[in-house]
Formats: sequence, C-alpha cells, structure tokens
Amino acid sequence: MSGTARPEGDASRKAGDAARQTNDRAPRASGARAGEHAIGEFELIRRFFDRGPARRALLGMGDDCALLGPPAAGSSLAISTDMMVGGRHAFDDVDPSALGHKALAVNLSDLAAMGARPLAFTLALSLPQADERWLGSFHDGLFALADRFDCELVGGDTTRGPLNVCITVFGEVPPEAALRRDRVEPGDDLWVSGELGAAAHAVAERKAQRVLAEDHPARRRLERPEPRVALGLALRHLARAAIDLSDGLAGDLGHLLERSRVGAQLDWSSVPLAPELVELPQERQMALALSGGDDYELLFAAAPENRVAIDALAARLGLPLTRIGCFDAGETLHVVDARGRPIAWRSRGFDHFA
Ligand code: ADP
Ligand code: MG
Repeated sequence: MSGTARPEGDASRKAGDAARQTNDRAPRASGARAGEHAIGEFELIRRFFDRGPARRALLGMGDDCALLGPPAAGSSLAISTDMMVGGRHAFDDVDPSALGHKALAVNLSDLAAMGARPLAFTLALSLPQADERWLGSFHDGLFALADRFDCELVGGDTTRGPLNVCITVFGEVPPEAALRRDRVEPGDDLWVSGELGAAAHAVAERKAQRVLAEDHPARRRLERPEPRVALGLALRHLARAAIDLSDGLAGDLGHLLERSRVGAQLDWSSVPLAPELVELPQERQMALALSGGDDYELLFAAAPENRVAIDALAARLGLPLTRIGCFDAGETLHVVDARGRPIAWRSRGFDHFA
C-alpha cells in the first residue's frame, strides 16, 4: 500500500486530536501534519514487525514477496487465513498484547486442526492510528506466541483504517496424514480435547457487565487461547478427521457431519465442562459448552482401536482427551444423556450472518 493516498476520515481526525494533547502517550498518527513527530508506515513496520534477517524463509519481509523454501519432502503446504475485526471479534478495550496473541492463535489452531506443523505467517494490519504503546504491546503478544511455535513473520501489509488484523499462516503436512473434515467413518469415536465453555462464560459475564479479573482462567481462555499444535501433530496417525472449536461444539461438529456425510451421538454427560460451568443449570451449561465459541480445542474422529493410544497421548501431553460420543451412518446430531435417552436440543454454532 506504499504511496497510496490516505483518506482523511474519522480515524485520522481522532488520531490528530489525540496527538495534539502533546503528552508522551499521544498516538503518533502516520498522517500527522508537518512539524509533529509521527511514525510513518515504514518506520512502523521496521520498529514493530521487522526482526532482522529471516531464519526460516529464504527471503523474509522487505521485498515485494517473501520466498519460502519447499516444505519437507512428502509434505504439502497447509495455508489458512483468519481475520479479527475490532468491536466484533474482540472487545474494544482488549489488551493489545492479547489481541496479538489471539490473532495468531486462531490461525495456528487451524493448522493444528489439520495436523500441520507451523512454518510462517503474514500479517495484514489496518489501524486507526499508529499508537506506539499499542503497537509495542501487540508486538509482544504476537511474537511471544510466534516464537513458541517457531513460526516466522515473513511479510504483510499495513494501512490506516478501522482495526482489523488478518493473518495468513503457512504450515506443512503430508497430504495423506492431513486431518480433513471429510474423512469420518461411521463407527468412529468422537473425541474432544481440554474443557469446554470457559471462553463463552467470559463473554457472557462481560455482556452482563460483570468484569472478570484479567488473570481469571475464563478470561484468559477467551483472550489467550492455546492452539493445540502438539496435539494436532500427534493425531496425524491416530485420528481420521478433526476440526477446531471456534464457533461452538454443536456447530463445528455439524461441519464434520456434513462434510463426511455421517451422523453422531453426543453423550452430554461425558462432555468435559470448564470449572466455571459446573454449578450452572444444565440448560445454561449446554448453551455455553455446545453453542458457545472460542474454545479452540480440537474435536476429532478416531477408530475405536486407537482408544488406548489416545489415552496415552493425553497423559503424555498433560491435556485431557475425552471420548464424548460416536459417529453413525445417520445424518444428524443426537444429544443423549448418560442412559442414551435423547435430550431436547435445538441450537447451533455461531454464524456471523445468521
Ligand atoms: P508493497 O508496496 O509491495 O505492498 P509494502 O510497502 O506494503 O510493500 O511493505 C513493505 C514490506 O514490508 C513488504 O515486504 C511487506 O511484506 C512488509 N510488511 C508490510 N507490513 C507488514 C506487517 N504488518 N508485518 C510484516 N511485514 C509487513
Ligand atoms: Mg503493501
């Protein structure tokens, strides 16, 4: 976007007003008037996103394209994009470091759900203003997670506009081991990692004007989800299909059923609930754990002969893996109680356009 005219919209006016307060926390708008110190687009990129010579890529950011070497022999590139829009995917006052974490975490979660190993990512960033404190905090959250998974930023785009963080991740996975959504077979077990409902609980509390402390486990689950990358890699040879839970178990399981043309029985009594849900009425628990999103756990299908190996994997990863039902040759999802009796259940996952 270099050299493009910058529209003088509402965002730039706000940035200008803030800059005129002339204190040390004034955002430095890239479109500021002459005489005001401003960090421009390129200084912003250099200071907050350029981390020197590429480690993994053949050529990292700074040119017209990055150059990545071919994936490991026998692997395909796995590519996914996820976007976070200010005010829609994150509360407006969200800690920028949490936003940096989550924007990458949701993308790494897609790689995990495919059984892919992270390699690199690009970052397209639209910001209302170039606020150095905001950028510093965003940088810290983003790169702390990127470095943990050795996933390298290789390029991007930076522009002024409403807050929008769009990341594309690149990973690698042998195509025959990829955990596709359309590979479930009737008779497979249905498994889920971790515990469900904490993030949805945090959203509900916030909407009810009840503020959870920053380090409350439910709030951390919402703001700093943990992508299950190691689990996805280990499932390459244990699971047949997988999906990550971004929009709620019921809706995301529905995607597996649709793509694989199978049905499923979900045993409600075995669904692992986050501690925050345990005291709530069942109807509320179901709403949070089945329809609530943002858990970023993995839901997967595996043949029954892999049960022992999957239990051993849970122990090795220190992450609960729970069998919560099975797939059948039907077409629909039946939620049943511990004795196999149907529980009335009508809801689905989150849909931005519903
Ligand atoms: P172009 O004009 O080709 O779009 P830009 O001037 O937008 O290039 O960007 C210059 C370089 O900085 C490019 O290599 C681009 O990939 C990189 N870049 C721009 N914004 C970001 C960002 N937010 N994160 C990482 N790299 C970025
Ligand atoms: Mg550009």
